Order: sequence, then structure tokens, then C-alpha cells
Amino acid sequence: MTDAAALNLAALRLHDSPRLQVLSPAIWAIIFSFLDSAQTIARIALTCKKLNAVAQVQGWPCFVRSRFASLKLPKALGDKEWVELAKKLIAQSRAWDRRAFSITSVVSPIQQGGGNERSGLSRGRGRGRGRGRGRGRGSNRGGGGQSRMQTFPAHVVVDASSKVDGQNEEETVAWGLGEDVVIRSRKSKSSTIQGETWISLPGVEAGFRSGDDDVTAISILSDSAPQPGLLVGRASGYLQLISTGRSDVGRLLAWFHPMRGGVDQRDIQHFDTNESQNTMVVATKENILFYPLEPNKWPAADMANGTPDIVVEPTDAFSVKSLPNSQDFRFIREAKYMSNGDIALCMASSAQPLRYLTRTPFGTVLANAAKLRPSSRCTESHIFNGSDPQTARSVLPVNSTSVIGGSGNTVLSSYDDGTVRLQDLRSHSPIDAIFQDHFEMTAPLGPLLSYGMDRFIVGSARLPILKIFDFRWTRPYSYTDALDCRKSELGPTPKPLTGVPAPKSLDYAKCCHLSGRQCTLHSLARTDFYRPNCNLYLPVVCPAVTPLYSLAKSSDMASNLYAGVTGELLKISLKDAAVDEREDFCMKQMGNSNRCGYTFHRSLANLVETGDGIALSDISQSKRLPLLFKQSPELLSVTATGELRRLDHALR
Ligand SMILES: [Zn+2]
Repeated sequence: MTDAAALNLAALRLHDSPRLQVLSPAIWAIIFSFLDSAQTIARIALTCKKLNAVAQVQGWPCFVRSRFASLKLPKALGDKEWVELAKKLIAQSRAWDRRAFSITSVVSPIQQGGGNERSGLSRGRGRGRGRGRGRGRGSNRGGGGQSRMQTFPAHVVVDASSKVDGQNEEETVAWGLGEDVVIRSRKSKSSTIQGETWISLPGVEAGFRSGDDDVTAISILSDSAPQPGLLVGRASGYLQLISTGRSDVGRLLAWFHPMRGGVDQRDIQHFDTNESQNTMVVATKENILFYPLEPNKWPAADMANGTPDIVVEPTDAFSVKSLPNSQDFRFIREAKYMSNGDIALCMASSAQPLRYLTRTPFGTVLANAAKLRPSSRCTESHIFNGSDPQTARSVLPVNSTSVIGGSGNTVLSSYDDGTVRLQDLRSHSPIDAIFQDHFEMTAPLGPLLSYGMDRFIVGSARLPILKIFDFRWTRPYSYTDALDCRKSELGPTPKPLTGVPAPKSLDYAKCCHLSGRQCTLHSLARTDFYRPNCNLYLPVVCPAVTPLYSLAKSSDMASNLYAGVTGELLKISLKDAAVDEREDFCMKQMGNSNRCGYTFHRSLANLVETGDGIALSDISQSKRLPLLFKQSPELLSVTATGELRRLDHALR
């Protein structure tokens, strides 16, 4: 050691004690990721100016990203927008946990007129005209004959998207009802409605016929897509992209059809676009077709028939039955893009109802989903032998990379036997689980929606019922964490349907952070027992036995979701009394004539709690009837009464 070094060492002194505000951003990010309530961050921000700045720049983005990690969050936001997003997400989480919903519906004029039986003859205005210009060529396209009599009423097929700019949001909801299409754009500021516009595109005016040309699939292509617009697929196999622009709404932008024969497209069961919305996969009952959605890959307008239509041919098309190793199935129900570009397929009446397609340079390969095996999360032997035919009605890729053991190959799928299965398509995984409602255990299930890996929703394929399930992962956020132990009671106690006993509490009045001891409230509030799933019975305005046909939400952060049933569109929102009051006022001012004849109704829902949702191997394990909670109209506008209840105040 040199003399100089010895001198320097002797001179070393701690001039300044370490200060919180000089910590590096990476250290702050670690600290903030451990804070589980927004209250703590807000308190840090109140300490001093410097810590306030740290909370704004680091605290809120870290809180949102760590507590709501599985949601699809916006990538870039301003400091103030992160605070607002945190507030919005914690309010939503609380409303979900407390089952605080408000439900409205818009009912179509046909439904109100009692016209439950539609037929091409009774609504035959302009039938056979033009029909979307350019149709009718070739011989193998459907819909060439007489319109078949429609003996069941039309139902709503819905999609939603939203564009957010700070506090301002424009939400677009588009739906098909029979052969008609309706587009509703709603502008809101801080979730409060500012105004909305409705556009109706009656099918009959474009030559579409009731029944044959009913809308079976619809998808809004966002403004960031190579070609924004609205994709509409019909029972006849007609698939069009129309403009949603203010000046030329409804104008045909392109028409997607195989013109060269080979694989036909006689019916559209379902279609899906990939994340960048530049390709589309279309499922008919037997065939899969891929189309480009980038205008620079489309041909020039086809003038051969004297019409300026752009007819886009598929880049690849094949019959699934003709692929090697394809086992028997009745028809394809859905095809969905996975994040890795594979296509998940679900099928009716097949021993392998869930499969996937991988596209390789040498062609498309079809594979069966990996066999579902019992896992630590789902030990019941409710596993299928793979020899009996089953029907999967819906498949939904979910991004499970935020949970341990998760991958990008995970899908949820819903079945006619009343189960929803979570599985890795490629291999058996510890996250595999089978979910089932412990009340209506074997009722067939239909459309699926998920909010990250927090919760998923499945619609009944028989009745207008929404079944809300928790994925049962460890929860990164629970609103109860910020509640004062001394002021709260965790009621009402759920009634388990399988007779499982309530968890025992340690009977401490207050949490003690030093000893790590939790109070009664906080130890019980996070248990699965006190967070049972629920079934929401949707009030349908025109009494009819209707399945829930479609579900849509605009984003993981949306407070609304939409459900399509016979003749009406239901909106299920997370309750906010001020927002609801404003909506009622606006709808009254607007009148039915500005809503294309649709009437607006606010309705009350009933719900039952249905246990933890993990499938039971023996249905006789569920023997009890659940309590029915009803929304009370006089309590619907009440927000906080001081009394803390596990469920929303309006539920009695
Ligand atoms: Zn406590």
C-alpha cells in the first residue's frame, strides 16, 4: 500500500447521512414494488417535496405494474396519468371484489315490436338488390337460394374497443343483430359520459337477407391497425371490412373470399386478428383461411365485374379434416391467435376438442392440446380420458407469464359439461386447472373473457348468466389491505355449497407488523373462502330464454363489459353512482330516435356465490342451495354508508 493511499483512507469520513431521496431509481423500484396499498404511496408523497417527486415518477408506475402485473397496461403514460390509472384500477378491484355492478341494456326495436319470429318474407324490403356489390359471382358461395325461414329470434354479436387520451376516452361498441349492424361511439371524460353517436347499417339496404346473412362474427380494427375499420362476417360466408370513418361510415373497404375454388367459405363461424392486426384467421365449420389485413398486400380494385370492389384472396386455406392426424369433429367453433402466432382451435363433438395450428415454412401443422393432468392447484380426478366426444364452445389465449410456471401457450376453454379448463397447450404444466361453478355444475358454458390472470368470466350457453371466476393465484392487490382493522367487519359470511368449514381466525383485534401477526379481518379477507366466485343473473328486458351469445370488453382497464343476448345488448359496469346518474340523464335527453330506435333500460341483477370454483370430481359433493342476493333499487345510488360490508351495499 502506498503512502498516498494510506492518507486517503485516514481522511474517509461519513460527511452526509444517507438520504432516501438520493437513492437510485432501481432501488426505489424495488421498495415501491413491496408496497401493497395505494394509501402507503400517497403517504410517502405527502412527506416532503422530494419524496412527492419520487412517488410521482417512480411510486405510482411501480405500484400499478407490480399490483396489476397481469393486466395489459399502457406502455407510456405521463406522471399524472399513472396516479389516475392507479386510482381507477384500485376502484375497479374493489368493485369486482364487492360485486358492485350496475347493469343497463339497450333493446332493439324489432324485439320490442314482439317480432320474435323473423323471416325473409316479412322483412323482405329490397331483398335481392345489389347485396354488397360484387357478390354472387362464382358458383360455390352460399346464400344463392331462397332465404330460409328464421324460426328463432336474432341475437347480438358484439365487439368493443377504446381510444384513451389522458382523461378523455372514446369507446366504440359495434354489434350485429340479425343482418343489421349498429356502431355506437361514446365519448367520456374521467369515466363520465359526455355524449354518444349511433350509426345503424340496416342489412336490407345492402341487400342482405335475414337468416342467411345474419352477422356471426364482428371485430373492430383499431386506429393503430394497418387498415382501421369494422370486420363483419356472416352466416352465408360473406366477410367484409367496412369503414368506421365519420365521413364514409359503412363504405366497403375490402371483401375477403377465396375466388379460385378449392377451399370454400360458405359460413363464418368465427375470426380473429393477430396483435398487430395485420393478419386474420377465419374459421368456417370445416376450413381455416388466413387473410392479409395490410392494404399494400391487397390486389387493386376488381373491375372485372364492373364493380370497384377489392377482393382479397386468402394467403393460405385448408380443410382441417384433411390435415394429417386430424381426429374426427363435428365442426370448428372458434380459432384464436396465440401470442406466439400459433392458432388455438376449439371444436364441437370431438375426442380432441382443443387443438392448435403451428405455421412452419413447410406448411401448417395441426397438434392436439397436451393432456390435462391433475396439478397441485387442481388435484381432483376430474380429468377426461380423451376417448369420449366433448364440445368446446370457446377458447381464449391468456398471458400467464406473470405467474410462476406460466407460459405464452396458456389457454382457457369452456365446455358443454360445465367446466372451464386452463392449460398449457404444448405440455402439462403446474398451472393446469379445471374450474367449475359449484351451484349449476353441469350447465354448458359459452363465451369467455379474462382480466389478465386476476379473474375470468364465462357466459352460460343456456341462460343469460355471467359466471365470474377467480384464477386463484396469490393476489398482488386486495383493497382490504388498506382497511382499518378496528372499524371493519367481514360480513356477510359466505355460504359454502360443499359444506367446507369456514377458516379459523386467530382473533387478534389489530395487525402487528413487527411480529408479522395479522388481525381477524386481514387474515380472513384474503382467504378463498371469503372470496367465493359468483353467478350474476342478468335481467333480460324482453322475457325470453336466451343463451349468452357473446362477450366483449374494450381493454383490461375498462369498467364496462358487454354481453349479447337475444334482441338486446347488456352493459355490465363496475358501479359508480355519479357515472350511472349522468348516463341515465344523457339517455333520457337523447331519446330512442337518436339511438336507432333502441330503448334504454337500467336493470337490477341477482347473484349467488358459488364457491372457490375448482372442479369437483363428484357432483354430489355440492348439495346445498346458495343464498340469493338481490340488488335493491333504493340502495343502488348509495355509495358509502360508513358500514363496511364484504359485498356491495345494494346487495341484500
Ligand atoms: Zn388488520
